[in-house]
Amino acid sequence: MDQPTTPLQDIRRRIANTAAIAGRSPDAVTLIAISKTHAAEAISPLIDEGQRAFGENRVQEAQAKWPALREGFPDLQLHLVGQLQSNKAADAVALFDCIHSLDRPSLVDALGKAMDKAGRQVPCFVQVNIGAEEQKGGCPIAEVAALLARARDAQVPVLGLMCVPPADVEAAPYFALLAKIAADNGLAQLSMGMSGDFETAVMLGATHVRVGSALFGSRA
Ligand SMILES: *Cc1c(COP(=O)(O)O)cnc(C)c1O
Repeated sequence: MDQPTTPLQDIRRRIANTAAIAGRSPDAVTLIAISKTHAAEAISPLIDEGQRAFGENRVQEAQAKWPALREGFPDLQLHLVGQLQSNKAADAVALFDCIHSLDRPSLVDALGKAMDKAGRQVPCFVQVNIGAEEQKGGCPIAEVAALLARARDAQVPVLGLMCVPPADVEAAPYFALLAKIAADNGLAQLSMGMSGDFETAVMLGATHVRVGSALFGSRA
């Protein structure tokens, strides 16, 4: 008898199947398990299953949970996917291996200083406000090139672009637009796609998908 599939196996299989249809290698897509709000007891089984990339959206919550959880797993990668206040830049640089929410000049400057001081380069994604939504974080599309130039000047390494498209509408056009802006700016990586739309994102070139509820169940 086959073992029942776990949510992690299911998501990995769906990523691999979609990548194959798109003519991409499944290894070209990193699955980030978004563990925000979930306790260590819910996260440990995924680490035991071999998952190594995790994401949190709050610095303080991650500081409380991850030093113990990641002990003994030197290859574990912790991603920050939530808005970052400049006064938490040093904490974020100390804890995270990748920051997906670089979205404004003052944060570029704060992260540049924090990385210089810590002697630690943390790769970043520039978060783009791809739907031009007033209430949402992210750099306006028209300001992406200038923000990238500023990051180069501040020696903040930028891997690519990240977005959270508007809710409740088809995400594909927004993913395609993010991919075009990245290509126009010579960036190879795309952090896009969540539980409801990661397959669409993989079709459109996502290199990092951020999946929470499909792995952990719904958040309280
Ligand atoms: C919570 C969150 C996710 C995961 O969302 P799910 O719909 O639970 O998969 C992805 N990206 C960001 C920025 C998030 O805050």
